[in-house]
Amino acid sequence: MSEASPTKGSGGSGATAPILRVDDLKKFYPIRGGVFSTKQGDVKAVQGVSFDLQAGETLGLVGESGCGKSTLGRTVMRLEEPTGGRVLYRGKDLVNCSKSELFALRGDLQMIFQDPYSSLNPRLPVGEIIREPLDVHKVGTPAEREKKVRDLCQAVGLKEEVINRYPHEFSGGQRQRVGIARALALDPDIIIADEPVSALDVSVQAQVINLMVHLQRQLGLTYLFISHDLSVVEYISDSVAIMYLGRIVEKAKKETIFSRPTHPYTRALLESVPQPDPRRRRTHVPIQGEIPSPVNPPSGCAFHPRCPFAIEACKKDIPPLEPFSGTDDSTHLVACIRKNEI
Ligand code: ADP
Ligand code: MG
Repeated sequence: MSEASPTKGSGGSGATAPILRVDDLKKFYPIRGGVFSTKQGDVKAVQGVSFDLQAGETLGLVGESGCGKSTLGRTVMRLEEPTGGRVLYRGKDLVNCSKSELFALRGDLQMIFQDPYSSLNPRLPVGEIIREPLDVHKVGTPAEREKKVRDLCQAVGLKEEVINRYPHEFSGGQRQRVGIARALALDPDIIIADEPVSALDVSVQAQVINLMVHLQRQLGLTYLFISHDLSVVEYISDSVAIMYLGRIVEKAKKETIFSRPTHPYTRALLESVPQPDPRRRRTHVPIQGEIPSPVNPPSGCAFHPRCPFAIEACKKDIPPLEPFSGTDDSTHLVACIRKNEI
Protein backbone atom coordinates (compact mmCIF):
# COMPACT_ATOMS: atom_id res chain seq x y z
CA MET A 1 0.00 0.00 0.00
CA SER A 2 1.28 3.46 -0.79
CA GLU A 3 1.83 5.95 1.99
CA ALA A 4 -0.23 9.11 2.18
CA SER A 5 1.19 11.79 -0.10
CA PRO A 6 1.72 15.30 1.33
CA THR A 7 -1.41 16.57 -0.41
CA LYS A 8 -3.52 13.96 1.28
CA GLY A 9 -4.65 13.83 4.86
CA SER A 10 -4.16 17.51 5.61
CA GLY A 11 -7.32 17.53 7.72
CA GLY A 12 -10.42 19.62 7.25
CA SER A 13 -8.85 23.03 7.81
CA GLY A 14 -10.97 24.66 5.10
CA ALA A 15 -8.14 26.94 4.00
CA THR A 16 -6.95 24.68 1.17
CA ALA A 17 -8.85 23.95 -2.05
CA PRO A 18 -11.35 21.14 -1.52
CA ILE A 19 -10.52 17.74 -2.96
CA LEU A 20 -14.17 17.39 -3.99
CA ARG A 21 -16.66 20.14 -4.70
CA VAL A 22 -20.28 19.25 -5.37
CA ASP A 23 -22.07 22.19 -6.92
CA ASP A 24 -25.87 22.39 -7.26
CA LEU A 25 -26.11 18.68 -8.08
CA LYS A 26 -29.54 17.45 -9.18
CA LYS A 27 -30.92 14.02 -9.99
CA PHE A 28 -34.52 13.61 -11.15
CA TYR A 29 -36.02 10.29 -12.22
CA PRO A 30 -38.81 10.67 -14.78
CA ILE A 31 -42.10 8.96 -14.00
CA ARG A 32 -43.75 7.55 -17.11
CA GLY A 33 -47.26 6.24 -17.48
CA GLY A 34 -50.21 5.74 -19.80
CA VAL A 35 -50.35 3.92 -23.13
CA PHE A 36 -47.76 6.14 -24.78
CA SER A 37 -45.47 6.07 -21.73
CA THR A 38 -45.52 9.83 -21.55
CA LYS A 39 -43.67 11.63 -18.81
CA GLN A 40 -45.99 12.36 -15.90
CA GLY A 41 -43.58 13.99 -13.52
CA ASP A 42 -40.25 13.55 -11.76
CA VAL A 43 -39.00 11.93 -8.60
CA LYS A 44 -36.82 14.80 -7.41
CA ALA A 45 -34.36 12.61 -5.53
CA VAL A 46 -31.56 15.23 -5.32
CA GLN A 47 -32.62 18.84 -5.70
CA GLY A 48 -29.55 21.04 -5.86
CA VAL A 49 -26.96 19.84 -3.35
CA SER A 50 -23.67 21.70 -2.82
CA PHE A 51 -20.83 20.90 -0.44
CA ASP A 52 -17.05 20.76 -0.28
CA LEU A 53 -14.95 17.87 1.00
CA GLN A 54 -11.49 18.67 2.34
CA ALA A 55 -8.76 16.07 1.83
CA GLY A 56 -8.54 13.66 4.74
CA GLU A 57 -11.87 14.61 6.29
CA THR A 58 -14.99 12.56 6.85
CA LEU A 59 -18.30 14.14 6.02
CA GLY A 60 -21.24 12.23 7.46
CA LEU A 61 -24.45 12.44 5.45
CA VAL A 62 -27.58 11.73 7.47
CA GLY A 63 -31.31 11.70 6.80
CA GLU A 64 -34.38 9.49 6.85
CA SER A 65 -34.79 6.66 4.35
CA GLY A 66 -35.80 7.98 0.91
CA CYS A 67 -34.33 11.47 1.36
CA GLY A 68 -31.85 10.93 -1.49
CA LYS A 69 -28.60 9.92 0.25
CA SER A 70 -27.82 6.95 -1.99
CA THR A 71 -28.82 8.83 -5.13
CA LEU A 72 -26.51 11.68 -4.11
CA GLY A 73 -23.62 9.27 -3.53
CA ARG A 74 -24.20 7.45 -6.80
CA THR A 75 -24.59 10.68 -8.76
CA VAL A 76 -21.36 12.11 -7.31
CA MET A 77 -19.64 8.91 -8.54
CA ARG A 78 -21.45 9.30 -11.89
CA LEU A 79 -22.93 5.85 -11.48
CA GLU A 80 -26.08 7.88 -12.21
CA GLU A 81 -26.15 10.63 -14.85
CA PRO A 82 -26.85 13.92 -13.06
CA THR A 83 -29.84 16.01 -14.16
CA GLY A 84 -27.80 19.14 -13.43
CA GLY A 85 -24.86 20.56 -11.51
CA ARG A 86 -21.16 19.83 -11.29
CA VAL A 87 -18.85 17.51 -9.38
CA LEU A 88 -15.29 18.85 -9.26
CA TYR A 89 -12.62 16.37 -8.22
CA ARG A 90 -9.33 18.23 -7.73
CA GLY A 91 -10.88 20.92 -9.93
CA LYS A 92 -11.83 18.51 -12.75
CA ASP A 93 -15.52 18.28 -13.65
CA LEU A 94 -16.67 14.65 -13.50
CA VAL A 95 -20.08 15.50 -14.93
CA ASN A 96 -18.85 17.02 -18.17
CA CYS A 97 -15.75 14.91 -18.79
CA SER A 98 -15.48 12.23 -21.47
CA LYS A 99 -15.91 8.49 -20.89
CA SER A 100 -12.15 7.92 -21.17
CA GLU A 101 -11.37 10.74 -18.71
CA LEU A 102 -13.96 9.31 -16.34
CA PHE A 103 -12.39 5.84 -16.67
CA ALA A 104 -8.99 7.29 -15.80
CA LEU A 105 -10.45 9.00 -12.73
CA ARG A 106 -12.45 5.92 -11.64
CA GLY A 107 -9.71 4.69 -9.41
CA ASP A 108 -9.59 7.94 -7.45
CA LEU A 109 -13.20 7.75 -6.28
CA GLN A 110 -14.55 4.46 -5.03
CA MET A 111 -17.72 3.30 -3.36
CA ILE A 112 -18.51 0.86 -0.55
CA PHE A 113 -22.07 -0.44 -0.35
CA GLN A 114 -24.42 -1.44 2.43
CA ASP A 115 -24.85 -5.03 1.44
CA PRO A 116 -21.49 -6.51 0.54
CA TYR A 117 -23.14 -9.77 -0.41
CA SER A 118 -25.12 -8.36 -3.31
CA SER A 119 -22.24 -6.14 -4.40
CA LEU A 120 -19.74 -9.02 -4.60
CA ASN A 121 -19.94 -11.49 -7.48
CA PRO A 122 -20.90 -14.81 -5.81
CA ARG A 123 -19.26 -16.86 -8.59
CA LEU A 124 -15.77 -15.41 -8.15
CA PRO A 125 -13.28 -16.32 -5.44
CA VAL A 126 -12.46 -13.41 -3.18
CA GLY A 127 -8.97 -12.99 -4.61
CA GLU A 128 -10.42 -12.38 -8.06
CA ILE A 129 -13.07 -10.01 -6.72
CA ILE A 130 -10.37 -7.87 -5.12
CA ARG A 131 -8.11 -8.14 -8.18
CA GLU A 132 -10.77 -7.25 -10.75
CA PRO A 133 -10.29 -3.44 -10.65
CA LEU A 134 -6.53 -3.98 -11.13
CA ASP A 135 -7.24 -6.20 -14.17
CA VAL A 136 -9.75 -3.75 -15.66
CA HIS A 137 -7.33 -0.84 -15.25
CA LYS A 138 -4.36 -2.97 -16.34
CA VAL A 139 -2.31 -2.10 -13.28
CA GLY A 140 1.14 -3.74 -13.11
CA THR A 141 2.14 -7.28 -14.09
CA PRO A 142 0.08 -10.35 -13.09
CA ALA A 143 2.60 -11.08 -10.33
CA GLU A 144 2.38 -7.50 -9.04
CA ARG A 145 -1.42 -7.73 -9.01
CA GLU A 146 -1.28 -10.96 -7.00
CA LYS A 147 1.01 -9.29 -4.49
CA LYS A 148 -1.25 -6.26 -4.31
CA VAL A 149 -4.23 -8.54 -3.55
CA ARG A 150 -2.29 -10.16 -0.69
CA ASP A 151 -1.29 -6.73 0.65
CA LEU A 152 -4.90 -5.54 0.46
CA CYS A 153 -6.11 -8.62 2.36
CA GLN A 154 -3.58 -7.89 5.06
CA ALA A 155 -4.55 -4.20 5.18
CA VAL A 156 -8.21 -5.04 5.85
CA GLY A 157 -7.49 -7.82 8.34
CA LEU A 158 -8.19 -10.86 6.14
CA LYS A 159 -5.88 -13.85 6.07
CA GLU A 160 -4.21 -14.56 2.72
CA GLU A 161 -5.91 -17.97 2.55
CA VAL A 162 -9.24 -16.28 1.88
CA ILE A 163 -8.34 -15.52 -1.72
CA ASN A 164 -9.48 -18.95 -2.88
CA ARG A 165 -12.78 -18.87 -0.99
CA TYR A 166 -16.16 -17.59 -2.17
CA PRO A 167 -18.27 -14.76 -0.71
CA HIS A 168 -20.93 -17.10 0.72
CA GLU A 169 -18.30 -18.69 2.97
CA PHE A 170 -17.81 -15.39 4.81
CA SER A 171 -19.58 -13.60 7.64
CA GLY A 172 -21.14 -10.19 6.96
CA GLY A 173 -18.23 -8.36 8.57
CA GLN A 174 -15.65 -10.31 6.55
CA ARG A 175 -17.58 -9.66 3.35
CA GLN A 176 -17.52 -5.95 4.08
CA ARG A 177 -13.73 -6.26 4.54
CA VAL A 178 -13.59 -7.80 1.05
CA GLY A 179 -15.68 -4.86 -0.26
CA ILE A 180 -13.26 -2.42 1.37
CA ALA A 181 -10.20 -4.22 -0.01
CA ARG A 182 -11.68 -4.09 -3.50
CA ALA A 183 -12.48 -0.38 -3.10
CA LEU A 184 -8.85 0.24 -2.06
CA ALA A 185 -7.31 -1.71 -4.96
CA LEU A 186 -6.72 1.32 -7.16
CA ASP A 187 -5.41 3.54 -4.31
CA PRO A 188 -8.40 5.92 -4.25
CA ASP A 189 -8.40 9.38 -2.65
CA ILE A 190 -12.11 9.46 -1.90
CA ILE A 191 -14.41 6.72 -0.69
CA ILE A 192 -18.16 7.12 -0.71
CA ALA A 193 -19.47 4.64 1.83
CA ASP A 194 -23.23 4.11 1.56
CA GLU A 195 -24.53 2.65 4.85
CA PRO A 196 -21.43 0.42 5.03
CA VAL A 197 -22.27 -1.07 8.43
CA SER A 198 -26.07 -0.82 8.51
CA ALA A 199 -26.53 -4.50 7.63
CA LEU A 200 -24.05 -5.74 10.25
CA ASP A 201 -24.46 -6.78 13.89
CA VAL A 202 -23.63 -3.98 16.31
CA SER A 203 -20.45 -5.68 17.59
CA VAL A 204 -19.21 -6.17 14.03
CA GLN A 205 -20.17 -2.59 13.09
CA ALA A 206 -17.59 -1.25 15.54
CA GLN A 207 -14.84 -3.44 14.05
CA VAL A 208 -15.56 -2.32 10.50
CA ILE A 209 -15.82 1.36 11.49
CA ASN A 210 -12.53 1.11 13.38
CA LEU A 211 -10.94 -0.48 10.32
CA MET A 212 -12.19 2.41 8.18
CA VAL A 213 -10.79 4.96 10.65
CA HIS A 214 -7.45 3.14 10.72
CA LEU A 215 -7.25 2.96 6.91
CA GLN A 216 -8.16 6.63 6.62
CA ARG A 217 -5.23 7.62 8.89
CA GLN A 218 -2.83 5.25 7.18
CA LEU A 219 -3.74 6.15 3.60
CA GLY A 220 -5.00 9.73 3.93
CA LEU A 221 -8.45 8.82 2.61
CA THR A 222 -11.35 11.24 2.35
CA TYR A 223 -14.77 9.81 3.23
CA LEU A 224 -18.32 10.70 2.39
CA PHE A 225 -20.00 8.48 4.95
CA ILE A 226 -23.70 7.93 4.36
CA SER A 227 -25.83 6.59 7.19
CA HIS A 228 -29.24 6.91 8.77
CA ASP A 229 -27.62 6.01 12.11
CA LEU A 230 -26.63 9.13 14.03
CA SER A 231 -24.47 7.32 16.57
CA VAL A 232 -22.30 5.81 13.81
CA VAL A 233 -22.03 9.20 12.11
CA GLU A 234 -21.14 10.89 15.40
CA TYR A 235 -18.34 8.42 15.92
CA ILE A 236 -16.67 8.64 12.51
CA SER A 237 -17.37 12.14 11.12
CA ASP A 238 -15.51 15.43 11.24
CA SER A 239 -18.45 17.30 9.73
CA VAL A 240 -22.07 16.31 9.31
CA ALA A 241 -24.61 17.24 6.64
CA ILE A 242 -28.30 16.67 7.32
CA MET A 243 -30.43 15.85 4.27
CA TYR A 244 -34.17 16.27 3.94
CA LEU A 245 -36.13 15.50 0.77
CA GLY A 246 -33.26 15.94 -1.66
CA ARG A 247 -31.59 18.94 -0.02
CA ILE A 248 -29.01 19.61 2.68
CA VAL A 249 -30.77 21.57 5.43
CA GLU A 250 -27.87 21.90 7.89
CA LYS A 251 -24.13 21.30 7.79
CA ALA A 252 -21.52 21.94 10.45
CA LYS A 253 -18.70 20.42 12.43
CA LYS A 254 -19.82 17.25 14.15
CA GLU A 255 -19.56 18.80 17.61
CA THR A 256 -21.81 21.68 16.55
CA ILE A 257 -24.47 19.41 15.07
CA PHE A 258 -24.64 17.29 18.20
CA SER A 259 -24.37 20.08 20.79
CA ARG A 260 -26.23 22.92 19.01
CA PRO A 261 -28.51 21.41 16.35
CA THR A 262 -30.28 24.39 14.81
CA HIS A 263 -32.53 23.37 11.93
CA PRO A 264 -35.83 22.05 13.35
CA TYR A 265 -35.35 18.87 11.33
CA THR A 266 -31.90 18.24 12.81
CA ARG A 267 -33.32 18.83 16.29
CA ALA A 268 -36.12 16.37 15.60
CA LEU A 269 -33.70 13.75 14.24
CA LEU A 270 -31.49 14.02 17.34
CA GLU A 271 -34.55 13.93 19.54
CA SER A 272 -35.56 10.59 18.04
CA VAL A 273 -32.29 8.95 19.16
CA PRO A 274 -32.54 7.23 22.57
CA GLN A 275 -30.28 9.19 24.93
CA PRO A 276 -29.09 7.29 27.99
CA ASP A 277 -27.26 10.27 29.56
CA PRO A 278 -29.90 12.47 31.28
CA ARG A 279 -27.66 15.57 31.07
CA ARG A 280 -27.81 15.29 27.28
CA ARG A 281 -31.55 14.68 27.09
CA ARG A 282 -33.24 17.24 24.92
CA THR A 283 -36.53 18.98 25.38
CA HIS A 284 -37.70 19.49 21.79
CA VAL A 285 -40.77 17.69 20.48
CA PRO A 286 -40.00 14.52 18.50
CA ILE A 287 -40.52 14.42 14.75
CA GLN A 288 -44.13 14.12 13.61
CA GLY A 289 -45.70 12.65 10.49
CA GLU A 290 -44.22 10.99 7.43
CA ILE A 291 -41.53 12.15 5.03
CA PRO A 292 -43.39 13.76 2.06
CA SER A 293 -43.13 12.48 -1.51
CA PRO A 294 -40.21 13.71 -3.61
CA VAL A 295 -42.62 13.74 -6.58
CA ASN A 296 -44.72 16.58 -5.16
CA PRO A 297 -42.58 18.16 -2.46
CA PRO A 298 -44.30 20.71 -0.20
CA SER A 299 -43.94 24.35 -1.26
CA GLY A 300 -41.29 26.57 0.32
CA CYS A 301 -39.35 24.74 3.02
CA ALA A 302 -40.14 21.05 2.43
CA PHE A 303 -40.05 20.44 6.19
CA HIS A 304 -42.77 23.01 7.00
CA PRO A 305 -45.70 20.52 7.27
CA ARG A 306 -43.82 18.68 10.06
CA CYS A 307 -42.14 21.67 11.67
CA PRO A 308 -43.30 22.94 15.08
CA PHE A 309 -41.81 26.38 14.32
CA ALA A 310 -43.33 26.86 10.84
CA ILE A 311 -45.00 30.17 10.00
CA GLU A 312 -46.81 31.29 6.83
CA ALA A 313 -43.58 32.55 5.24
CA CYS A 314 -42.07 29.05 5.45
CA LYS A 315 -44.59 27.88 2.81
CA LYS A 316 -43.44 30.49 0.26
CA ASP A 317 -39.77 30.31 -0.70
CA ILE A 318 -37.21 27.53 -0.44
CA PRO A 319 -34.81 28.69 2.28
CA PRO A 320 -31.17 28.87 1.08
CA LEU A 321 -28.43 27.00 2.96
CA GLU A 322 -26.71 30.00 4.58
CA PRO A 323 -23.99 30.65 7.16
CA PHE A 324 -25.37 30.70 10.70
CA SER A 325 -23.66 32.99 13.19
CA GLY A 326 -25.40 31.66 16.29
CA THR A 327 -22.54 29.26 17.09
CA ASP A 328 -18.76 29.71 17.09
CA ASP A 329 -18.47 27.24 14.17
CA SER A 330 -17.59 29.30 11.08
CA THR A 331 -18.55 26.34 8.86
CA HIS A 332 -22.10 26.17 10.24
CA LEU A 333 -24.77 26.37 7.51
CA VAL A 334 -28.53 26.27 8.07
CA ALA A 335 -31.46 26.43 5.63
CA CYS A 336 -34.22 27.92 7.80
CA ILE A 337 -35.66 31.44 7.77
CA ARG A 338 -36.34 31.21 11.52
CA LYS A 339 -32.83 30.06 12.47
CA ASN A 340 -32.09 33.20 14.49
CA GLU A 341 -35.37 33.16 16.46
CA ILE A 342 -35.93 29.53 17.44
P1 ADP B 1 -31.98 7.09 0.65
O1 ADP B 1 -30.68 6.49 0.22
O2 ADP B 1 -31.81 8.36 1.44
O3 ADP B 1 -32.86 6.13 1.35
P2 ADP B 1 -32.56 7.12 -2.20
O4 ADP B 1 -31.50 7.95 -2.80
O5 ADP B 1 -32.42 5.66 -2.31
O6 ADP B 1 -32.76 7.55 -0.68
O7 ADP B 1 -33.96 7.51 -2.86
C1 ADP B 1 -34.40 8.86 -2.97
C2 ADP B 1 -35.70 8.90 -3.73
O8 ADP B 1 -35.44 8.58 -5.11
C3 ADP B 1 -36.73 7.89 -3.25
O9 ADP B 1 -38.01 8.49 -3.36
C4 ADP B 1 -36.57 6.75 -4.22
O10 ADP B 1 -37.78 6.04 -4.35
C5 ADP B 1 -36.22 7.48 -5.50
N1 ADP B 1 -35.39 6.66 -6.41
C6 ADP B 1 -34.15 6.14 -6.15
N2 ADP B 1 -33.66 5.48 -7.20
C7 ADP B 1 -34.61 5.58 -8.18
C8 ADP B 1 -34.72 5.10 -9.54
N3 ADP B 1 -33.73 4.40 -10.11
N4 ADP B 1 -35.85 5.40 -10.22
C9 ADP B 1 -36.85 6.12 -9.65
N5 ADP B 1 -36.82 6.60 -8.40
C10 ADP B 1 -35.72 6.34 -7.66
MG1 MG C 1 -29.86 4.62 0.67
